[in-house]
Parts: sequence; C-alpha cells; structure tokens
Amino acid sequence: MDRKYVTEMVPADAAGIARAAEVLREGGLVAVPTETVYGLAARADKEDAVARIYRAKGRPSFNPLIVHVRDRQQAAYFGDFAGTAGVVAELVWPGPLTMVVPRVGDRGLAEAVAAGLPTVALRAPSHPVMRALLEQIDFPLAAPSANRSGFISPTSAEHVRASLDGRIDLILDGGPCEDGLESTILHIDGGGVWHELRPGPINLAALHDILFDPHNPVEIRRGTGERGIEAPGQLASHYSPGKPVRLNATQAEAEEFMIGFGQVPGDVTLSASGDVNEAASRLYGCLHLSSASDRPHVAVAPVPEEGVGRAINDRLRRAATPPDNDQSSSGS
Ligand code: AMP
Ligand code: MG
Repeated sequence: MDRKYVTEMVPADAAGIARAAEVLREGGLVAVPTETVYGLAARADKEDAVARIYRAKGRPSFNPLIVHVRDRQQAAYFGDFAGTAGVVAELVWPGPLTMVVPRVGDRGLAEAVAAGLPTVALRAPSHPVMRALLEQIDFPLAAPSANRSGFISPTSAEHVRASLDGRIDLILDGGPCEDGLESTILHIDGGGVWHELRPGPINLAALHDILFDPHNPVEIRRGTGERGIEAPGQLASHYSPGKPVRLNATQAEAEEFMIGFGQVPGDVTLSASGDVNEAASRLYGCLHLSSASDRPHVAVAPVPEEGVGRAINDRLRRAATPPDNDQSSSGS
C-alpha cells in the first residue's frame, strides 16, 4: 500500500533548485543534499526561519548550527578568517570541513544560529546541488542534519522523508550522499592550537602536515576545546537506531541484526572489501536498515581506527550509548 506523504519531494534539477531557492527566500525549510549528509536548510539571517529548524528537529536550543556559504569570501563576511584559518579554508573548500571562527558582529545572522556563542561555524560545501542553490540566493543557509534530533543522520532523500515528513516544506532529492558522514569540525584557537571538535571525512593530521613541517608534528586536541567552543553535537548518545547496539562483534548472536565489515559477514555490510571510505558512505544507510529490522538488537563488526575509520567509530560509539546516559538527551 502506498503511503501518502505530506512534504513535497522534487528531483534536484534546475526547476527543483529554483523552487528550493524560492521556499528558502520565504523563510521555509528545505532538505538539501550535500556531500556529507542531507541538511535541513533555512535562511540563516532570519530569526523565525532558524527557529523553525530547531522546532522541526526537536533540537535543544543550546546546540548551534553550521552556516553554509558559497566560498571563503562570503564566509569572511560573517567570521574572522585571519591567519591559518583562512589558509585552511582556501585549501580545503569547497569540501567537508567546518571551521569554527570568531563571529564578526552585526552581520545580520540570526542570534539562534550561534546559540549565544562568540564564535560561528562556517562551511562551503562541494555538492553541485548545494552550490547551485547557494549561487541563487543572497543569504547563507543554516543547516544541521535533516533528521529528528538524536536519531540517525540521513544519507538519502528517503531517510529525510521517513524522519521529517510533514514537519518541513520541501525535500530536494539529489540521490545518495557521497561521503556519508558529517563534516570534520576544526577550531584553531588564539594560540594556534588545532582542536578537532568532531572527526569526519577530512583528516586534520594529514592537513596539518601539508601546512606545517611534518617532521615536527603538533598535537591536534580531540573533542573538547577551550571554554565555550565545545561542540554540543558531541553528546554521548546520538545516531541511535532505537535499540541496543553491540560493537566489535565478530559473529551475530540470537536476535541480533548484524552489520558486517571486511571478513566479518552480516545481514548487511559496511564494506565487504574492508574499505573504510565505502564504510563511511554506507554507515547511516546500514544503521537505518538495522532500525527498520524486526530484530530487537544490533551488532556491528570492528572497523579499524585508520583514516575515516576514526570518525566511523566515533559515530558508532554514540549509536551504542543509551539515551539515558546523556544528561541532556541529544545533539542533532
Ligand atoms: P549538525 O547538527 O550535525 O550540523 O552539527 C553541527 C555541529 O556544529 C554541532 O556539533 C555543533 O555543536 C557544532 N557547532 C556549530 N557552531 C559551533 C560553534 N560556534 N562552536 C562550536 N561548535 C559549533
Ligand atoms: Mg546531526
């Protein structure tokens, strides 16, 4: 039986992108494909529009949003890219790296975007649909992942619809997301120290080596930064398939939906060939399948801590943490 959906979904062709631009101008909510995951976009310069994102997701208001821009020039209007931050942005953008930089005052960003922080998170995405959309509008887009807060991030338009149907105005269907994991978040503090606020597709150690002497490696601090720049999205429980998850499993036990990797088989596999990049792009799709399965438990094969494997394991640990362990429920 065909289910009736409330939210309109259109292909991300020229007409779809023009329609999305129109809805956004009016202050509406549009789910858009990016190279990381689908984003739930609203114009970042209107308080009402941004408030609608928090409502649609059920997102705690202390969790700030990433502002998506065309390029470094537009980013530099809203944030201070002096020094290394500007060099890094120039090197990596457009791409899956978010930079947390000091906010430039009075540039018309809605207050709720930065959730009261003196910093702002900015990213220029590389997905052709998102870039075409940003070319057609004269405001930046606030866009967290297009899912109900705390649940699995969407890597397809269908995932968005399953989570947010009826709560948003439009879904632009641009096919599956290539990277499949949220952007790496980097903050470079006043002393030049790099803080990885969230691991992701961009490997900061490798990036640091390109910019500085690789024979004199500098420690990249993980997870927490100086006061006020912690990424609240790093809450312990997140990406939950809604049932218990067992990690580093080499074999399924009774009643478990098994997610395999490499030599370890499963009901589905992250990557039969043991490729961590393929595993990243398939991770959320596999978690969605585990969630939809009629089995009450989920088991996941070990994934090596190499390359983007670190970011995959970061997400898996959060998926395996019961929501009750989190003081404040969840992030995004
Ligand atoms: P998402 O909801 O998946 O888009 O994740 C956005 C992430 O960016 C969250 O972890 C936020 O806490 C983080 N973030 C956004 N703005 C800032 C900021 N100004 N300082 C630190 N983290 C930020
Ligand atoms: Mg999210």
